[in-house]
Amino acid sequence: MSGDVDTTHVAVHPSRESVVGRMTVHRALPRRGLRTVGPWCFADHMGPELVTETQGLDIGPHPHTGLHTVTWLLEGAVLHRDSLGTEQLIRPGQLNLMTAGHGVAHAEEATDTYRGTLHGVQLWVAQPDSQRDGTPGFEHHAVLPRAEVDRSEVTVLVGEFAGATSLARRDSPIVGADAIVRPGTTTWPLRPDFEYALLVLDGEISVGRNVVRPNELAALGTGRDEVPVTAHETARVLLLGGAPFTEPLIMWWNFVARTHDEIDAAVRAWQEGEARFGRVDSALPRIPAPQPIWAPRG
Ligand code: MN
Repeated sequence: MSGDVDTTHVAVHPSRESVVGRMTVHRALPRRGLRTVGPWCFADHMGPELVTETQGLDIGPHPHTGLHTVTWLLEGAVLHRDSLGTEQLIRPGQLNLMTAGHGVAHAEEATDTYRGTLHGVQLWVAQPDSQRDGTPGFEHHAVLPRAEVDRSEVTVLVGEFAGATSLARRDSPIVGADAIVRPGTTTWPLRPDFEYALLVLDGEISVGRNVVRPNELAALGTGRDEVPVTAHETARVLLLGGAPFTEPLIMWWNFVARTHDEIDAAVRAWQEGEARFGRVDSALPRIPAPQPIWAPRG
């Protein structure tokens, strides 16, 4: 029941700056006290920033396990290459969804393919135990479903929202949507069994008594059947949600796993160039795995 939820109060968390490739990003997830929202376990907001000869995304080949990467752009272009042989340019309005399963590697290049403003998000979804050791895969969705709710125009990236359902792969109950919210109040329908967060990408909104600014994440928790979002100017807001992820989760570098031994094995396999992660056809240098903090230095 949602009657006992105080809809006027939400927890607002700032993002922290991090460097990815040659670009500064704002990392909203994971953070202390909030490691996941549903199965969403990582959220980077990149840009808006100019891609020049010396500044851009340019992430060389690196491995992943146990997750989906979800790439969504508001401006610009990024070239994705992976160890499955995929070469896919992504532009605003399109979705790249890569499934790591037991292991995959990819590179993300901007500088050589695009000059101009780059603005977007890269998100990770933790795969459940039943899928996380499975076959890797890649999907590009050139067109995504949209829904109009009050003053907002919502694009559904993953899952279902306001009657619109994305065809993108999902391994557990989840929703991810990007909304343009025009000035005024929009009330979004929610599922009480899902937990949710709103990440503001542009503009400023109020949720109940709280003001949420760009790169701030409003954690809504579970138990709500709707949320009122008030935009003071046209805002861009990402809605992330899903059934609370209750499996134990260990994240180290680009690996999502359950135990330190699994991470150690993945680090070793990448460092030794094992077939597990395949080969990415990219001119960028391969990124070495850092030594896990729990491993003896030698
Ligand atoms: Mn990656």
